[in-house]
Amino acid sequence: MNQTAEKTNLLGMSLPMLQAYFQSMGEKPFRAVQVMKWIHQRGVTEFTAMTDISHSLQQKLQLVAEVKPPKIVEEFLAADGCYKWIVEVASGSRVETVFIPEADRGTLCISSQAGCTLDCSFCATGKQGFNSNLTAAEIIGQLWWANHRLGGFAPPRPHAGKTTRAVSNVVMMGMGEPLLNFDNVMASLSLMMEDNAYGLSKRRVTISTAGVVPAIDRLKDFTDASLAVSLHAPNDELRNQIVPVNRKYPIRELLRSVADYMASLPDKRVPVIEYTLISGVNDHKHLAHELAALLREFPCKINLIPFNPFAQSDYRRPSNNAVNNFRQILQEAGYTVTVRTTRGDDIGAACGQLVGEVADQTRRSERYRRAAADAQAVVPGSNRTFTSADNLAISVDSAQRSI
Ligand code: SAH
Repeated sequence: MNQTAEKTNLLGMSLPMLQAYFQSMGEKPFRAVQVMKWIHQRGVTEFTAMTDISHSLQQKLQLVAEVKPPKIVEEFLAADGCYKWIVEVASGSRVETVFIPEADRGTLCISSQAGCTLDCSFCATGKQGFNSNLTAAEIIGQLWWANHRLGGFAPPRPHAGKTTRAVSNVVMMGMGEPLLNFDNVMASLSLMMEDNAYGLSKRRVTISTAGVVPAIDRLKDFTDASLAVSLHAPNDELRNQIVPVNRKYPIRELLRSVADYMASLPDKRVPVIEYTLISGVNDHKHLAHELAALLREFPCKINLIPFNPFAQSDYRRPSNNAVNNFRQILQEAGYTVTVRTTRGDDIGAACGQLVGEVADQTRRSERYRRAAADAQAVVPGSNRTFTSADNLAISVDSAQRSI
């Protein structure tokens, strides 16, 4: 490679990829472990600062490679300690990352795509249309950045003691559908759980999916991370309306694939069933009973997420009473149920409201804008469009606490 050619970004490479890279340079594979520790445990991006690597290899790497985290364009800190970062990705779009500190853990909510193709009816990201898959460097770069900002890296010298990491849990619940960006998400998950990188427990790394069945079926060959499934309805008729991907992969197939994945794991773990409660749409008591019946043979925990309203949606958040009734029915049926509470309100954040600034390729955002403009002709004052103040998604659920 000559000096004008683009350099290879090592940030998003899993250990096998990095080993193959060093081998292709004629270097020993253990160099990959050394470099990986510098990048992901000490936060070092300059090869010249990697002091246990020979000067000549440092020089060689400088010519052909780089460690390049994505660009962070804005940071917000909420009164309750939540952080939100706006991340600019190579395609020019902006996505969001959120850190949610709690007494006994710190959860990072990571984005996997700029926009989303799935267009779930209650999700702000879907209304933005779709722009691009994030690269593995852009995905793991969100965890790298959170550690960088929150003092999670060890001191920059070899053999230094362990540092307590601020981020103990990762949830792939930011913008996008992680299983539609499969390879890059898998490489990132492997770095999250790699002892020579972030070393997070597989119980503390969660993929959240709207139900891309063929990808769930492949999952066991690539990862043993934990799984959350966005169900939101107990029957296909209703789910087809709010989660359109259900028309392709109906509930029965979805639960079958999730059960297969869970059965493939060496330890005993159950998936989390996510259920966003939308007033008058899927929060009726009879649907709670139907959900309890649907999941009777399906070991799981249930996480109820009261809908967080956003500008381009007519949906409403259910009353506390409705949420409690729904929860009680499920609890009485024997399920472990948690209700997600919203955090970080003062930085314009609530779960599922991830917007970013997506350069839409699908023209979906234009369609929604037109529909909103039409609606405004009828309902004055409903002309708000997305801004980054409408952003993201800081929610905490106690389900993960026990994971
Ligand atoms: N595509 C993945 C991950 C992104 S959404 C998935 O579907 O699981 C992460 C979670 O946020 C999902 O469970 C989704 O139901 C929830 N969510 C999205 N929009 C929401 C909103 N407006 N209010 C409450 N929860 C929402």
